[in-house]
Amino acid sequence: MTIDNFNFAGKKAIVRVDFNVPLDENGKITDDTRIRGALPTLKKVLADGGTLIIMSHMGKPKGKVNAKFSLSQIVDAVSAALGAPVQFAPDCAKAQEAAAALKAGEVLLLENLRFYPEEEGKPVGIDKADPAYDDAKKAMKASQKEFAKTLASYADCYVMDAFGTAHRKHASTAVIADYFDADNKMLGYLMEKEVNAVNNILKNINRPFTAIMGGSKVSTKIGIIENLMDKVDNLILCGGMTYTFAKALGGQIGQSICEDDKLQLALDIIEKAKAKGVNLVLGTDCVAADSFSNDANTQIVPANAIPEGWEGLDAGPETQKAFAAAIEPAKTILWNGPAGVFEFDNFTAGSRAIAEAIAKATANGAFSLIGGGDSVACINKFGMADQVSYISTGGGALLEAIEGKVLPGVAAICGE
Ligand code: AMP
Repeated sequence: MTIDNFNFAGKKAIVRVDFNVPLDENGKITDDTRIRGALPTLKKVLADGGTLIIMSHMGKPKGKVNAKFSLSQIVDAVSAALGAPVQFAPDCAKAQEAAAALKAGEVLLLENLRFYPEEEGKPVGIDKADPAYDDAKKAMKASQKEFAKTLASYADCYVMDAFGTAHRKHASTAVIADYFDADNKMLGYLMEKEVNAVNNILKNINRPFTAIMGGSKVSTKIGIIENLMDKVDNLILCGGMTYTFAKALGGQIGQSICEDDKLQLALDIIEKAKAKGVNLVLGTDCVAADSFSNDANTQIVPANAIPEGWEGLDAGPETQKAFAAAIEPAKTILWNGPAGVFEFDNFTAGSRAIAEAIAKATANGAFSLIGGGDSVACINKFGMADQVSYISTGGGALLEAIEGKVLPGVAAICGE
């Protein structure tokens, strides 16, 4: 079933969204991209004359109730975004009565699903090495099914629209789908858009294809880097991860972030790029700082000659030019991960150079996909969100999709 073909009139729809929005210390939302992302689906249910039961996780409460991660903090924001009053169910697994009482056009938001360990389905308080672990896991899988069944019992149909968690086989993202027949479960508009955007990158590639991978660690991005190597013409590696490469190549990196156990991996990536004819772009200069702070003293130094006591926190001007040269002529662009510690205003130049080059290429007809929380935060910080083709709401989910994996949240609805 597709959401466009479904008529929600008189139906209760339980919709899994990703409202895992960042909050400040006062519980105020600092970036509402994810709430806005879910609106087309939520509004379609209401416009058809349906009833909305919204469910999400927030943060990592690890199976325990924790006020810091309560979705009660976002009720007003969801209500304002939706233009409708939103009721709140303070216990997601005990919302039968509240759900049953809902009338057409009404909206109920369930409390954080991850206050229950059943949502993630991982046994808590037991080590993987413990001989009793396998039994605990089996028991947890059984109670995960019960939990999913309870959630399913609130509604007539299920919509999966949480791309951010679609790579997880959780109760609300996948298991719940077993309790609805094929005509009463579907992907939401956001999921459809995300899946199409990934297909643009994986299947309908216009060349040249430039991928920009940044962030702090190479270890968390290795799967996607290896997968992209078969597809891209240019691969820019930037951000903290590049100091592992600089060190592996014999450079001096001072106090820069580095994964010492990944030096060989870095060399392997360089070799692989050569063998596959991929133009690998690594920074040649960087902005080095004498402390990890916005107000640190800085100097521009070669990326392989960072003085002791200094650390590379951003790409240097020569590197920024090399990035732009690989991005501007591209016709397909993927960006995941910043080129520096962009959270500090004084170390945003590298990421800004990337964003500007992407905007230029996009204006010239490229398809550009930005994904991963940090790159999205970057593009929003620069006020350039409307100058790229598509901003993904997914971090890990996007990376796994681009690695070519079928996401459990998609498989649960569409099959493997
Ligand atoms: P990741 O979570 O691996 O995608 O990395 C994102 C984080 O990497 C951001 O919080 C950046 O501040 C951080 N980052 C980027 N460049 C550097 C750097 N040169 N040194 C330390 N952290 C960095």
